[in-house]
Amino acid sequence: MTAVANSPVWRPFTQHALQPCAYKIARAEGAWLEAEDGTRFLDAISSWWVITHGHCRPEIMQAIRDQTGKLDQLIFAGFTHEPAEALARRLVELTPPGLDYVFYSDSGSTSVEVAIKMALGYWRNRGEGRTRIIALEHAYHGDTIGAMSAGARSAFNAPYEPVLFDVARIPFPAPGEEQRTLDALERFCRAEAAACIVEPLICGAGGMLIYSPQILAEMKSICARYGVLFIADEVMTGFGRTGTLFACEQAGVVPDIACYSKGLTGGAVPLAATLCRSEIFEAHYAPDRARAFFHSSSFTANPIACAAALANLDVWENTDARARVARLCEMQAARIARFANDARVSSARRLGTIAALDLNIDSKDYLSTFALDLIRFFNARGLVLRPLGATVYVLPPYCVTADDLDMAYDAIAEAVDVFVTKR
Ligand SMILES: *Cc1c(COP(=O)(O)O)cnc(C)c1O
Repeated sequence: MTAVANSPVWRPFTQHALQPCAYKIARAEGAWLEAEDGTRFLDAISSWWVITHGHCRPEIMQAIRDQTGKLDQLIFAGFTHEPAEALARRLVELTPPGLDYVFYSDSGSTSVEVAIKMALGYWRNRGEGRTRIIALEHAYHGDTIGAMSAGARSAFNAPYEPVLFDVARIPFPAPGEEQRTLDALERFCRAEAAACIVEPLICGAGGMLIYSPQILAEMKSICARYGVLFIADEVMTGFGRTGTLFACEQAGVVPDIACYSKGLTGGAVPLAATLCRSEIFEAHYAPDRARAFFHSSSFTANPIACAAALANLDVWENTDARARVARLCEMQAARIARFANDARVSSARRLGTIAALDLNIDSKDYLSTFALDLIRFFNARGLVLRPLGATVYVLPPYCVTADDLDMAYDAIAEAVDVFVTKR
């Protein structure tokens, strides 16, 4: 098996002393990765949740090739270009009505930083001293300092804890405990918070924890009652993952600010967009430079990335993408059901194209080497699965076949046999 060791590359979320090697992938197509020696892996988590239609989707690759012949990169202050303009118009049209302005950046984390800064700028420019951010327990919003601050505290951010800003933390709306969440939210809203940020319908990195559209709608309406800006972090949920194009659609919720990134280009190249309601733009609009929105990424609205995103939107519009998502939802439902009555696992669950279950093992410690054993177990079976602690989830590209999924679920069943009964 191809693996590289002794490389100068410092890999993400990797303890190199325990994981010295990485598989070296040479090419990918659809749901499959291929290593240099021909070994193949089913990419059952869409290369960390970004690939939507499949790897190297021809229309998106062609759009990238076409754009590279015209314009590579452009200063985005004082200048603009058609791919950015066209993409903004189409995003305004596609996303929930009322999100009328588009701010580009280059990753999910930066789209969240932009959202938080937009909310703080809005209140400052209105002359109100609101600065408190409300966020959910188990939340994940990215790994930059601001996004980490909004995210749940865990072993992953313990070293940085002293410099993270304090947020108003509300409990996760677990089934049966929703009222606690709503009460806590209302308490913080009444105390004049600036904004509330949530991952709509599912906390992803926090363990694929699902909550209902009704609760999402109630959270939004409590915020609206107190004028607290509602930020939907759709970085993971956007572009079909939850069964609808955007998760907020299922609750009929129009956020004040929404963050999109992972699936925006179909996962091919980095790009992010933070959309907002016109009031937020207008709060920054004045014949006074001090009231401008002070944020820029060097690669803001990179033309090649915007062209890839436009091609992605064409795929959604002109192909059977939505039907594929619907079929994948059904295939996932049928397969996760196999674990519904298995006492060795709990909470076999699904939201749209995402399915997850928790292994009933003693240690749910994300840092235990058990998680690494599991990852190795799946890799050895030609699968990219990367459990979150004891939570095993399948989040595949929409082109995955029934046979591909069977292979993934057979491996999960085998993992349950090997890992759970042993303990
Ligand atoms: C992945 C993710 C982010 C961060 O995106 P990056 O592109 O990795 O910076 C933010 N929010 C959510 C909900 C995510 O899943």
